[in-house]
Amino acid sequence: MKSVILVSLIIFISIPAHAFTLSNSGRVNLPGPEVAIVVASNTCSVAGFNSAQELADMVQESVDAYWNRIPTCALELTVEGVNSSIDTSSDGLLEALTKTPIGKILVGCSDDADLFDSSSTLGVGSINTASGDRGAFLLNNRSTVFANQSQQEKLAVIAHELGHAFGLGHSGDPTALMYYAIGGKVQENLSIDDYDACSYLYPHDSPGGCSAVPVMPPGPRSGLKSFKKQSGNKTFAESNSSISLMILTLMMTLFFGCLWREYKARNLLS
Ligand SMILES: [Zn+2]
Repeated sequence: MKSVILVSLIIFISIPAHAFTLSNSGRVNLPGPEVAIVVASNTCSVAGFNSAQELADMVQESVDAYWNRIPTCALELTVEGVNSSIDTSSDGLLEALTKTPIGKILVGCSDDADLFDSSSTLGVGSINTASGDRGAFLLNNRSTVFANQSQQEKLAVIAHELGHAFGLGHSGDPTALMYYAIGGKVQENLSIDDYDACSYLYPHDSPGGCSAVPVMPPGPRSGLKSFKKQSGNKTFAESNSSISLMILTLMMTLFFGCLWREYKARNLLS
């Protein structure tokens, strides 16, 4: 009986309290908390935009609807505007990243055949640390797959790819915006797992007086690893989220309470 309980306890403690992952480069974040987004000047007409400004407006709407709404995440994304000197028409993601100003995120579209070898790929995003931290994502301008999405789906796809651009990998939580298969899913809100992921990478210095969340030291820096939709780093990262800790504490309280009642019922306790 004791061994069964011990094994159960080990399994329970081994269950991660979150499902998010980080980029292939590890724990990397852009210098923040305010991060500017620049939009390439080429028109993404196949993707359904009449001008680069129209894409810029949709990106701002997306960040306001998703990532800028997390009280425990210090990240604040702002669209700086269209940069007339940047064109990503036929870029791969690495090329786009080299055009991205240091510390910022570049958004554009491309008809590159290697990047969008699948007509169902909506967009591709990544963070780069090889020569200065920066992120980028490109929408598919090779097929009309993005143009054919609903307005809500477009906002969600942009938010998902932005997540990659500021340092997140995919989540194993099907309710998360960062779940690997966002296509065809109407994701109107972020999940707790998305909250945890953003808060882990961009913690507040002072969350408001209750309990201090320490600012984590900079994560490891390694070479560029690009992300493709529906393929992500599955390495689990530790979360320092207070929400996760609260849930874990509650679950452990219930678990030990249950064990105690079982012992008592079997007269194993006096
Ligand atoms: Zn993705």
